[in-house]
Amino acid sequence: MLAKRLATLAPSATLAVQAKAKELKSRGIDVISFGAGEPDFDTPERVKEAAVQAMRRGQTKYTEVGGIVELRAAACAKFKRDNGLDYEPADVLISCGAKHTLYNIFVALLDPGDEVIVPSPYWVSYPEQVRLLDGVPVTVATREASGFDLDPERVAAAVTAKTKIVVLNSPNNPTGAVFSAAALEAVARLAVERRLWLVSDECYEALTFEGRHVSVASFGPDVKARTVVVNTCSKAYAMTGWRIGLAAGPRALIKAMTDVQSQVTSNPSSIAQWAAVEALSGPQDEVAKMAGEFDRRRRLIIEGLNALPGVRCVMPKGAFYAFADVSGLFGRRLARGAPLATSGDVTSFLLEEARVAVVPGADFGSDRHVRLSYATSAELIREGLARMAAAIKRLT
Ligand code: PMP
Ligand code: GLU
Repeated sequence: MLAKRLATLAPSATLAVQAKAKELKSRGIDVISFGAGEPDFDTPERVKEAAVQAMRRGQTKYTEVGGIVELRAAACAKFKRDNGLDYEPADVLISCGAKHTLYNIFVALLDPGDEVIVPSPYWVSYPEQVRLLDGVPVTVATREASGFDLDPERVAAAVTAKTKIVVLNSPNNPTGAVFSAAALEAVARLAVERRLWLVSDECYEALTFEGRHVSVASFGPDVKARTVVVNTCSKAYAMTGWRIGLAAGPRALIKAMTDVQSQVTSNPSSIAQWAAVEALSGPQDEVAKMAGEFDRRRRLIIEGLNALPGVRCVMPKGAFYAFADVSGLFGRRLARGAPLATSGDVTSFLLEEARVAVVPGADFGSDRHVRLSYATSAELIREGLARMAAAIKRLT
């Protein structure tokens, strides 16, 4: 008999779609995947070379639990360079991907029944991680008309005596929103007033196409003292497989998270850590190059989606996702099928009729939308859009 908490656990929908698309491809079925958010670029050569050199030097053993001091120092330099934030290596924890970083945070902070405010639409793993720890995710809607900007009034209205954490994710997965500085600052002030923790997931920072990325921790020492900044090597450096996530925050919390990690995974791979030192401290020009390419694809896919009858999509400002409203397709059907009624129906329809994989919005908190990751070539984006257009034409 499994633990009761497993009864409500939803496996990661993003990873499930990716697995399904891979499986179909391995059976020779030609699927275009807009599923998982994973850069299609290769890890930069200089980063791979750093890993090879680390192995050659014999750096293949356990390291400090929280990461080698060289990497924690490189993370501090990154936070200073990109965010204007001052941290020391003792304020930093390196974990096995930002997903692991987030779990460490929730383990260290949540007691059963504690509430965590999660602006919605949200990345699939926040509510599930909170629930795994017997916390209570409280979703707070953003408005599509504002480009899904954070809504400080709604966040304030959701705070109760049990609220412990507000999760902020900008640039946002799945909406691509870059939260306005004004909204972030209002929530930062609220956190100080109500003594809440801010978990600021800035994993898509390098992919900010419009507006400017602002780390909420930069609004002042009182805010920084209640904020954990989360980042990753996965997106900016196309290093999803290496599993390196970063946290910076108040030393006592970082220590608690490190203690948790010491009993669960120990250090992240020593080799990946040396690669990450190079990623964070070496020349950063590939990052801008990659971001430029994502920006071109962004315009291509949004224009194409808005040209599809029954589909509307706001222009995302960051990350590499399009969150398209497909509710205009609801009620339409294939000659032989039932009418489309949910984001899951539209997802199945697109997979079966267009051989295009997307993720249902329901898993991100909106059943009127589907998410498309455009971390794929312009050619595949064009082909995918053409297939969707042809399939939608067959609906009546
Ligand atoms: N946060 C967000 C918003 C994400 O989309 C992801 C998925 N890549 C992560 C965190 C975790 O990334 P990773 O574990 O690869 O560092
Ligand atoms: N974060 C990416 C996504 O949302 C990768 C998969 C995952 O970790 O959820 O697709």
